[in-house]
Amino acid sequence: MSVTPPRLKDLGRSLALVMEFIDEYEHHPPRPGAADFTYGNPQELALPGFVDALRKQLEPRDPSWYAYKLSEPKARVTVAASLGRYLGATFAARDIFMTNGGFAAIAASLRAVVDPGDEVIFLSPPWFFYELLIGAAGGIGVRVRLEPPEFDLNPEAVAAAITPRTRAVLVNSPHNPTGRIYPPDRLQALASVLARASEANGRIVYLLSDEPYNRIVFDGRRFHSPAEFYPQTLLLYSYGKTLLTPGQRLGYVALAPGMSNVEEVRSDLRLAQIMTGWAFPNALLQHAIEDLDALRIDVGRLEARRDRMVAALRELGYELGSPEGTFYLLARSPIADDMAFMRALRRHETHVLPGTVVELPGWFRISLTANDEMVDKGLDGFAAVLRDL
Ligand code: PMP
Repeated sequence: MSVTPPRLKDLGRSLALVMEFIDEYEHHPPRPGAADFTYGNPQELALPGFVDALRKQLEPRDPSWYAYKLSEPKARVTVAASLGRYLGATFAARDIFMTNGGFAAIAASLRAVVDPGDEVIFLSPPWFFYELLIGAAGGIGVRVRLEPPEFDLNPEAVAAAITPRTRAVLVNSPHNPTGRIYPPDRLQALASVLARASEANGRIVYLLSDEPYNRIVFDGRRFHSPAEFYPQTLLLYSYGKTLLTPGQRLGYVALAPGMSNVEEVRSDLRLAQIMTGWAFPNALLQHAIEDLDALRIDVGRLEARRDRMVAALRELGYELGSPEGTFYLLARSPIADDMAFMRALRRHETHVLPGTVVELPGWFRISLTANDEMVDKGLDGFAAVLRDL
């Protein structure tokens, strides 16, 4: 079967609402001192340990210090050991592929496993760019809805969406924007669905596990990765959340222990990273990985901010759950039109992400990366907008 690659303009259609929102945000940027809960961006200075880690590696120690870098052997060893400790599994250093962020990890993995015309299932509400990246890899995105208010992973719904053309299922836990962490029994059930589908199709159905928030979990929970349950998993990670430095692009792909055709995936993935535009992290970030990997933002402080905001918003009459992980709160818009709500709230110098942008009209998302002054100001804004409405 010959398949025509999609045109850029057609791919862009899936992103039209997102781009409109980004433009609107740029045209109405929060004023200094406004309460900006829109994106998962830092609203405080970076961790001192982050700056120290980079400073320590700045002076070149040999002529190749700043040479072209694929996945640096030392970085792979560090990541394999750290991830192995975190998940209680053994990852081989050669199965770690360093990338310039989670974005690149997703793009390169899709390129590595997807053939033109293959279907890739993803869950909605999705991260903004899944459909674009699936399309860019020549695939066709297929949505499975997560049902409110629980937004649980539903393995039967995934099973119902599988066809002979299904090549991969892309899941995200802890989930942006709902804050859900998928429990082991659901992940096990999903693994069984994918194993059965692979057998029926006579072709592997991969699991792409997008888990940049896997170290931002609350209430003493233990995170379980889908990679623990299904060996045909590519685990995709970004340091941009754990360090809250998304402008310094660092992440990786880890191939799950026990992957059956691992040689082929390894070589396809490296090629895919090159053709995705040299999707490797800069040399400095790879040199600094040992220190960076040991660092993280204060999750306890984030959890306290979650508790404060959830309680205060409920008190005001907002309807919202409490996230198990990530740094987002997802709440119902008090009026059906979440775009109108976002604009009304903006008049009180309080900025949120309208749910429409993530295929969830009637809801809005708050990023807990806002600082404490923003929370004070924002809670006044959330109260004032209710009086306007
Ligand atoms: N996946 C999800 C679910 C995300 O929320 C993000 C960042 N917002 C990414 C991937 C990409 O992460 P990065 O920008 O650090 O590459």
